Amino acid sequence: MDTGNRSNDVIAVDIGATHLRTARIAASGRIGPITRENLRETCRTADDVTRLVMAAVGALLGEQDSAPAEAIGIAAAGPLDLSSGAIVQSPNMPFERIDITGPLGDAYGLPAYLLNDCSAGALAEVRFGPLRGTADLVYITISTGIGAGVIAGGRLVTGHRGNAAEAGHMCVDTTYHLSCGCGGRGHWEAYASGSGIPVFFRRWTETHLPGHTRLGLPSSTPEVFDAVRDNEKYAGFLDALAVINAKGLSNVIAAYEPEQIVFDGPLVREHADLLIGPMLERTDRYLALPEISISSLEGHAPLLGAGAHTLGKIGLIGDMHRTL
Ligand SMILES: [Zn+2]
Repeated sequence: MDTGNRSNDVIAVDIGATHLRTARIAASGRIGPITRENLRETCRTADDVTRLVMAAVGALLGEQDSAPAEAIGIAAAGPLDLSSGAIVQSPNMPFERIDITGPLGDAYGLPAYLLNDCSAGALAEVRFGPLRGTADLVYITISTGIGAGVIAGGRLVTGHRGNAAEAGHMCVDTTYHLSCGCGGRGHWEAYASGSGIPVFFRRWTETHLPGHTRLGLPSSTPEVFDAVRDNEKYAGFLDALAVINAKGLSNVIAAYEPEQIVFDGPLVREHADLLIGPMLERTDRYLALPEISISSLEGHAPLLGAGAHTLGKIGLIGDMHRTL
């Protein structure tokens, strides 16, 4: 593709529930050094988040000896309002509204494009991962929350305002009725995400091993998994978690019937043996199981996808996906 005198670089930003990552990304998919900041520790207000993003982008744009960047791409945990370029009422951040694209565009005079982080993850898999070119793929991340991004028929499914495929808020249980950060009950994320697993473990133990709760229970997901690995009496919890994960996966397959499902997120990468196999055993048998894999993009899929989305928007990579 003839790009004239353009630099082929964009600035990519990934705004997660806990961390902000920024990097330069080239049209080839080459990713520059990644800068990482702790959002939770640094930001007390929504304006703090906007300022932190602007400072991180400004630092990359101001690097000496770097080619000028052509645009800014941002992946963020939703919900989003794509029409105004803002994060709105996120269950994982205590702010009503965080303006992103407006302040970035005004400050740096570059086009800025916002995308749901799981949509970005899906895009990275079909653009830069080993499954590049796959037309029907669902990307599912299990981290602080649970989310999904969908490529269907070669198109990114964004929904009306950018919040399609919120798989973490699909209902997967009517027994324990756990509350979700969104205000709903029984949602996948409330049981099987990094924030949900300790809560589900406590509820499961209270229900099935009454008396054990007074001994003190693990308060973080790594502690829960350590306890489960060390103690046979918690085997039932792993099964209950597998049932929840299988319900979520079955819902996703029923909705989209992808050829490939790619799991991502630190929980999956570190505890795949406890999560993936047991989930597949419990998945609804009437569904044809897609190919299942774990992302090989080393946790950078949302960042790479923010870059891919933006490179497509400004015409620096081709239009395999018509909605790019
Ligand atoms: Zn929810």
